[in-house]
Amino acid sequence: MLTPKNSGWIEVICGPMFSGKTEELIRRLVRAQYAKQDVAIFKPKTDNRYSDDYIVSHNKRKIKSIILESSESIYTYKNKADVFGIDEAQFFDNGLIDVCNKLAKLGKRVVIAGLDKDYKAKSFGPIHQLMIDAEYVSKVNAICMSCGDPASFTQRISSEDTLVVVGETDKYEARCRNCFKP
Ligand code: ADP
Ligand code: MG
Ligand code: ZN
Repeated sequence: MLTPKNSGWIEVICGPMFSGKTEELIRRLVRAQYAKQDVAIFKPKTDNRYSDDYIVSHNKRKIKSIILESSESIYTYKNKADVFGIDEAQFFDNGLIDVCNKLAKLGKRVVIAGLDKDYKAKSFGPIHQLMIDAEYVSKVNAICMSCGDPASFTQRISSEDTLVVVGETDKYEARCRNCFKP
């Protein structure tokens, strides 16, 4: 990947649950740490699966992170890091869009992971605008739990009907277009 030399940039990693977004985010951030870059990692408060101050993937890889209630606080770390990682970005407020663009303008590399679709297959939070603003977008798929095809949808298998229901394989399954039932 050829990256800008005169400015920062935005990378988005998006897809359904279990598609390896967090895994890929951790992979990119750990490589930056090996290169001795200062990395700061954030996640929104709603996501407290597994561990409080770590970002943890479904296959249990983890990296130390800072939990924030609002996107605005991310900007206060602007002098503390070169690379900014953000996980579960769909749960942040829309202020995240402005914050990420401002950080990129300051020369920072901003790597964002999040769900592009909610459980109804509708656009989720600030992600779609960030995909537009980004220099690089990686769309990752999971494996459909019903048929084995590439899965880009998240099926809720529990009966709750509020937008944000934090859960794991007990509540969600990755599904392909055919097997997804909204
Ligand atoms: P995401 O952040 O996109 O939810 P993670 O990076 O946390 O995904 O986890 C990806 C891991 O989830 C995979 O490497 C695999 O071990 C596991 N996994 C569980 N269910 C599935 C599935 N249906 N398809 C692919 N991987 C799955
Ligand atoms: Mg994740
Ligand atoms: Zn399927």
